[in-house]
Amino acid sequence: MTKGCEECKLIPAGVSKRTGKPYKAFYTCKNPDCPNYKGEYIPNKGRDTGVGALNTRLDNLAQYLAEEFEEIKTMLLDIQRK
Ligand SMILES: [Zn+2]
Repeated sequence: MTKGCEECKLIPAGVSKRTGKPYKAFYTCKNPDCPNYKGEYIPNKGRDTGVGALNTRLDNLAQYLAEEFEEIKTMLLDIQRK
C-alpha cells in the first residue's frame, strides 16, 4: 500500500466493527486520478450545520466503505493464492 498523491489519507489499522476482524492500515483518496481513489469522498468541513452533520455521516460512511473494500480485496487475494 503506497501513497499515490498528496491528497491521500492514511486510514490507521484497526478492527472492523462489523466483522470483528483486524485490517491493515491503508490509504484512501478523494482524487479520482489517484490509484488509492475508492469513490466519492466528502471531507468534513461543516460546523454544527445540517450540511456539516450530513458530511460527518458521509465521512463515516466513506471510511466504512473503504474498510469493507479493503477486507473484500484481502479476501479475494487470499482466494487467488489458493
Ligand atoms: Zn491520492
